[in-house]
Amino acid sequence: MNTDETAQYDAVIIGAGVLGCAIALELSRRGTRTLNIDKAAAAGSGSTSNSCAIIRFTYSTEVGVAFSWEGGQYWKDWANYIGTDDELGLIDFHQVGQLNLFTDDAERLARVHELWDQVGIPYEYLDAAQMAERFPYMDFGRYGPPTRPEDPAFWKEAEGPVRGGLWSPDAGYVSDPQLSCHNLQRGAEAEGGEFRFNTQVTGIRTADGRVAGVDLNDGTTVDAPIVINVAGPHSFLINQMAGVYDEMNIKTAALRHEVHHVPAPSGVDFMQAGSVGADDDIGFYYRPEVGNNVLLGSVDADCDPSEYVDPDDYDQTIDREQWHTQVLRATRRMPDMGMPHEARGVVDLYDVSDDWLPIYDRTALDGFYVAIGTSGNQYKNAGAVGQAMADLIAAVEGGHDHDAEPLQVTGRYTGLTIDLGAYSRNREVNADSSMSVHG
Ligand SMILES: Cc1cc2nc3c(=O)[nH]c(=O)nc-3n(C[C@H](O)[C@H](O)[C@H](O)COP(=O)(O)OP(=O)(O)OC[C@H]3O[C@@H](n4cnc5c(N)ncnc54)[C@H](O)[C@@H]3O)c2cc1C
Repeated sequence: MNTDETAQYDAVIIGAGVLGCAIALELSRRGTRTLNIDKAAAAGSGSTSNSCAIIRFTYSTEVGVAFSWEGGQYWKDWANYIGTDDELGLIDFHQVGQLNLFTDDAERLARVHELWDQVGIPYEYLDAAQMAERFPYMDFGRYGPPTRPEDPAFWKEAEGPVRGGLWSPDAGYVSDPQLSCHNLQRGAEAEGGEFRFNTQVTGIRTADGRVAGVDLNDGTTVDAPIVINVAGPHSFLINQMAGVYDEMNIKTAALRHEVHHVPAPSGVDFMQAGSVGADDDIGFYYRPEVGNNVLLGSVDADCDPSEYVDPDDYDQTIDREQWHTQVLRATRRMPDMGMPHEARGVVDLYDVSDDWLPIYDRTALDGFYVAIGTSGNQYKNAGAVGQAMADLIAAVEGGHDHDAEPLQVTGRYTGLTIDLGAYSRNREVNADSSMSVHG
């Protein structure tokens, strides 16, 4: 590492979460001298560390489905993609499949069907009887729409069976999202990428109308003609520092989010027999969690409170009332799950954009790029984001007018075309979005 007061790199990446590390790997592989700067002590200590790391393809827009299908391939080819050893070992991708339950929202079911057919994603349609046979520990009654326990409708009996579900055999989860960042870091370092931890970016430097580097909280600066904001829930603060916050049509903000851990239904080895699932009828998503637990996340149903917070000052303890609501909901679907006394889980932040789709773009400040607004749903896409951002930076720095003519990226694994205009900071709110964590 350069130890002068002012170090120089080709590109500074603010953040070493899963996206920042994947961008570092891709850029350093292409010969760019990168430096990731993170205020935390290690890669993946930000919102990535508490990610459920579910890899699924149920997005509401065509580009979202295509991008997730492309992104999903990286996890299957992880060792090859990382290209080097990691003394901590490599992550495992658990391809356990995903069950997507749909009820009265037949329109969304039809849309996902249609998009999966278009993109060529394998799936199986299952009716309630077929699901009951495959998942005997689950009750496939129709209880929705989601409500809260203070609402009498919360306690009603099932109104017949759910309409059906889509089984996606290629979906799954990564059990250790922080380790995936370490793997990416080692991959980037093998190509010459550098990382600086326990260091906070406090300012964005400009010269002659373009970005020139960053100021750091230790009083030093780093010069670079390219700076990429990948600061997760702190992204809006970095955009404000760069003076580009106001020019962006789509904004980002930090949303508090809880995920709960409960013991698996009695007698079920959920690590073996369980799957990933998304259940809009009850209003939760789930996956197996080590120790034969079920990890429960909320789909942020309309009846649940949304808490936008200061990312440096928010309550990190589990809200017992919300925990109770989530677990009660889940026990309708998995009746033998029981209700543990102790509230366990994690609290973290989504970096939510106005339409819950990410922003992968340049900005009005030449040389300053953003990979932000990941809205609780972009862990799975990290590898594809690395490629997309590296292609974008190469094109824009080569003189391409991305704002006028959005770049089309060809996915390295699937050959699918990803229209990066869909992730522009200047887009209007995308009406096809689910406006939720589904993306
Ligand atoms: C509870 C939860 C569950 C989720 N579940 C899923 C899921 O199942 N599937 C899925 O695909 N996605 C999921 N997501 C979303 C996914 O985890 C995120 O989209 C992804 O991890 C974002 O990665 P990142 O690198 O952009 O951000 P982060 O991991 O937040 O990294 C940003 C980094 O920037 C650093 N930083 C911030 N400000 C500064 C500064 N001024 N100076 C230096 N460093 C700074 C931070 O320390 C941090 O390490 C979930 C998210 C959460 C919170």
